Amino acid sequence: MNEPPLAPGLYIVATPIGNLGDLSVRAAETLRRVQRILAEDKRVSAKLLAHVGATAPMSVYHDHSDAALRDRIVTALQSTAIALISDAGTPLISDPGYKLVRAARAAGVAVHTLPGPCAAVAALTLAGLPTDRFLFVGFLPAKAKARVEAIAEVDGVRASLVFYESGPRLGDALAALATGLGNRDAAVAREISKLHEECVTGKLVELSARYAEGPPRGEIVIVVGPPAEREAASKEDLDASLREALSRLSPSRAAAEVAAALSIPKKRAYARALELVGAGALA
Ligand code: SAM
Repeated sequence: MNEPPLAPGLYIVATPIGNLGDLSVRAAETLRRVQRILAEDKRVSAKLLAHVGATAPMSVYHDHSDAALRDRIVTALQSTAIALISDAGTPLISDPGYKLVRAARAAGVAVHTLPGPCAAVAALTLAGLPTDRFLFVGFLPAKAKARVEAIAEVDGVRASLVFYESGPRLGDALAALATGLGNRDAAVAREISKLHEECVTGKLVELSARYAEGPPRGEIVIVVGPPAEREAASKEDLDASLREALSRLSPSRAAAEVAAALSIPKKRAYARALELVGAGALA
């Protein structure tokens, strides 16, 4: 193809999560132009590399690879263009890479990323649950006690939660999520971008009953919606809280305190605080 080699540095290349058509033109070109490719499993990546005509030698890299190997890679990066790929999706996301990126940065090596498929983000786009804030939790522990603890840690988070899971563990994971988080809205996205892609939505209790029957095949992402908003504060609650706060604080500080306590916009609390002050309602 006669494409010139790239400038030295680390190239983090996202690869498809099931559909080869999702590999970007830039990713394919980069894989052809680097001088070495770091992969999790050479057999898995060989197919993709053959598909794009990349012929650079492959080496296996994991974050638990020893520090000496990482040092050798970082030394090589000073004069060589090296790509990092994982079996599928975006490297570093529940996949190896962060220790290598950290070491490369510490050595002043150029680090480039080629963004692309990521199962967590793809599942969020399918789920129909709030996406303004989300927490990627990754894989839950396999052991029941550790799983309960991990779920308890994220219970209070006011965001959608994203978990990676495997078919055989899906029913147990959903049941543990229903117990630990309450019966929230959720989605199970399976085989994203593949022939049998599906996204089943419902309450956690329904979903756990559905998947307790028979574990589904394939790769899975669970998305759980945020906890329900507290009941909207009534006008009476708001006035009572503001009167009390205004007896101690300026209108602005009182509004901030009450807005946080009642989970309402500060603007609404402040406007009402000014009305109460103006009406002399504090007397
Ligand atoms: N780095 C990858 C990424 O960017 O999504 C994730 C790697 S992690 C080791 C593999 C997990 O990602 C699977 O167990 C599954 O939970 C999720 N996953 C990967 N491909 C998927 C797909 N096509 N559909 C649904 N989930 C997928």
